[in-house]
Amino acid sequence: MKRPTILVLGAGYGGLSTVVNLQKSVGVDVADITLINQNDYHYESTWLHEASAGTLRPDQVRYDIADVIKADKVKFVKASVEGIDIAGKQVTTNNGVFSYDYLVIGLGYEGETFGIPGLDKYALSIANVKAARHIREHIEYQFATWSMDEVKDDSRLTIVVGGAGFTGIEFLGELGNRVPELCKEFDVPKEKVRVLCVEAAPMVLPGFDPELVEYAVGHLQAKGIEFSIGTPVVEATPEGVKIKKGEDEFEFVKAGTVVWAAGVRGNRLIEQTGIENMRARVKVEKDMRAPGHNDVFIVGDCALLINEEINRPYPPTAQIAMQQGVTVAKNLLSLINGEETETFVPDLKGSVCSLGEDDAIGVVFGKKVTGAKAAFMKKMVDNRALYMMGGPSLVVKKGKFNVL
Ligand code: FAD
Ligand code: NAD
Repeated sequence: MKRPTILVLGAGYGGLSTVVNLQKSVGVDVADITLINQNDYHYESTWLHEASAGTLRPDQVRYDIADVIKADKVKFVKASVEGIDIAGKQVTTNNGVFSYDYLVIGLGYEGETFGIPGLDKYALSIANVKAARHIREHIEYQFATWSMDEVKDDSRLTIVVGGAGFTGIEFLGELGNRVPELCKEFDVPKEKVRVLCVEAAPMVLPGFDPELVEYAVGHLQAKGIEFSIGTPVVEATPEGVKIKKGEDEFEFVKAGTVVWAAGVRGNRLIEQTGIENMRARVKVEKDMRAPGHNDVFIVGDCALLINEEINRPYPPTAQIAMQQGVTVAKNLLSLINGEETETFVPDLKGSVCSLGEDDAIGVVFGKKVTGAKAAFMKKMVDNRALYMMGGPSLVVKKGKFNVL
């Protein structure tokens, strides 16, 4: 009998975890497994705020896919997915067309701009490792240009961060440490630099523990970061952003850099599949399959999973994406063996939000943590993700060991 073909799209946390767990339990003769990803490396999306601020180099936040897959069990193809034909059971890429018996879509997130004019064009988004490198170099360019210019435009040194969710706050934490370094490197007086976070909701980190939020805001303000809260960004232009301050009150902030970190959606390719979706996220069945499509699994940020206790979606996180990979690998094997699939149940350990490499806030196993202890935990979480994908050798190669 012909071996079934399993095609996994995307080597992010969800896709790579699926493949790594499949290769642990599948014999070479059970299925033909192909992983397609646009780069020959995996990048740690959860470290991209560091690469964007320049506190980590881009090469530090990525590793070769070849280092974690077993070539005798998984074929890796470097290709960019261009279309997914669910009815025809095939995927078109810039490097060929691939048929499948079972498909796993793990193509990750894109920044959500909610149709706000100008953001797509004029704001930068912490979207992937290349975009992170671009943000870092854009900020450095602004500092270098200010330094060179005879007639100086101080707005070059203004950085606006849209959104005070986890991504915005983690990026601000890195900027808090990076700006003094940049000032030294580019001969810029610190008082000329302005870092402003603009948040639409009435609080920073909406929904998070208020005491921890107060800690985070205080520590970021002490590093010179300003907040404008309850004031949505309503437009971006080449010069900066327009902020709604009141009923008919607007303020324009001139800025050399605008980083948009105000939420995510799934990969736009999902919207072309014909599978029902909301902002490119598919409300999956309990076993992570797309409704009505028994041969298609969705993992990571392209999946929308409802927390039935509160009847709201779980926030899309790497923590959940990696766990989904474990279940999807099991369920693929069950389908091949004609067995029942299992329900995915997230095992949430908590969340830690870094405020730079030396500081963080978090709730871990129900307990609040702050400061160096929380920062240490964050590094352990980061190292654990490496361990789950590539074992101890990957932790040794890429892990974070600079304990303060
Ligand atoms: P991704 O990690 O986005 O990976 C998608 C993969 O698909 C990538 O390899 C990409 O190159 C590839 N791909 C995309 N399009 C194509 C295409 N057309 N063709 C081929 N390949 C393609 N979550 C946590 O749990 N903890 C954290 O501390 C945390 N920190 C974060 C910090 C930041 C700055 C950000 C932005 C997010 C953070 N998150 C965190 C959220 C987490 O990163 C995401 O939930 C997670 O990355 C989703 O994993 P994924 O597998 O769906 O996709
Ligand atoms: P988010 O949706 O969590 O936060 C976006 C923020 O932007 C919200 O506070 C929202 O009110 C604000 N916003 C929306 N529109 C706005 C506007 N027009 N003007 C100003 N502010 C606006 O998105 P995120 O921070 O990108 O996080 C995405 C996902 O990744 C979440 O699930 C998050 O939990 C996860 N994440 C986790 C970590 C971590 O665990 N350490 C770090 C980063 C991201």
